[in-house]
Amino acid sequence: MVTYDTVEVEDTLEDLLYKLIGCYLTFSDKKVFPEEVYKIHRKLALKFPQSVPYNIVDFFRILNEKPLFEVFGPPVSTNFNHNDFFNSPLFLFNSISEAAYEFYIDYNRTKVNTLQRQQLHMRSFLEHCRAQNDKKRYQQIYTAVRVNIYNKGFFQNGNLVYEPETNMYLEKEFEHFILKMEELYHITSTDEELIRNFYRQVNGPKRFLICNHCHLPMFNENQCHNNEVCFSNSKENRAPRKVVELEKGEVRLVPESGIIFYNVIPGLEEYRVYYKLKGYFSSYGVNVNLFPNLEKDGDIEITYQGKRILIDVKDYRRPEELANNINKRLGNFLDLDYVYIPQYRTKYNDYMKVLKDQVNIDEIYRMTGRKLQFVNEKQLIELVKKKFEIA
Ligand SMILES: [Zn+2]
Repeated sequence: MVTYDTVEVEDTLEDLLYKLIGCYLTFSDKKVFPEEVYKIHRKLALKFPQSVPYNIVDFFRILNEKPLFEVFGPPVSTNFNHNDFFNSPLFLFNSISEAAYEFYIDYNRTKVNTLQRQQLHMRSFLEHCRAQNDKKRYQQIYTAVRVNIYNKGFFQNGNLVYEPETNMYLEKEFEHFILKMEELYHITSTDEELIRNFYRQVNGPKRFLICNHCHLPMFNENQCHNNEVCFSNSKENRAPRKVVELEKGEVRLVPESGIIFYNVIPGLEEYRVYYKLKGYFSSYGVNVNLFPNLEKDGDIEITYQGKRILIDVKDYRRPEELANNINKRLGNFLDLDYVYIPQYRTKYNDYMKVLKDQVNIDEIYRMTGRKLQFVNEKQLIELVKKKFEIA
């Protein structure tokens, strides 16, 4: 049997300490550690080879003696205040210290899963771009970074790629992308750091099997199950899969799974329709922009001779849920002209009718004097032509 490597979601130091405390609170015989504790210890020892002893008894002794920051350095996460916790040892007379227990409770209350945390990297980058004075340049930087991820794994010449495209960079290729960003948009070291956060480095020797759906290394030969999100399996998707082999010393950069599952895959349709509109209207001198005003004005903006159309792309399985979400945030929809619904959604019986019936369109009309419309691709192209008076 051929075996493949996977790129798993990596726990942070806080995740590991939280799990360790959780384990400790549940095992009854404090002299015999459960297997999970050995695993956590191994991970910490690999992460902190200078300060974490490879012997588990010594490891626990240190956790009784030294404040955590002396063993692991300062906390990484800025989600909530961990200072008390890091300033004291994990254990006091062989039971969990008070600060550690408080950390455990607090962490449990506020924890987000690792994929969601990775997704937040995109959010932080967007917030960072929005906070800059040079709006126009940061609009370009943000869009270029998103488009780069789409084009690497999912698009070729504007078309979605269903063949196993690999969402992985050669080190050289990635550095070239960063250099190009510096050259085109003069990105700062902070910009660069935030962009690098979307990717993880993997070192050879490794052998990856690439999933046809998420385009990341698969969990095993039959099922992607990538970090428990991708559902693709070989029974349903029989297309051949690409194998990527890394020699010893070879380095690749792989986008974090959370970025792909929460930002890129849901955004594929807006990128596809953007490309379609661009292809259709550019020759008329119409400008088509992605993520206008750093996503504050919808997903796509089309301008022509002083006129402007704003479009939001909404890809929901259930129209009731979409209607409900729009009604809850009517304020976000006041400037929009069209909400674009992908063709594959509208195939299901009365999707558009449910939307028109359940969205509070009258309220939007009362506030703006405009009727928000729900459209598919064909309708959108026709409406843009009509509004811009293009034949
Ligand atoms: Zn997958």
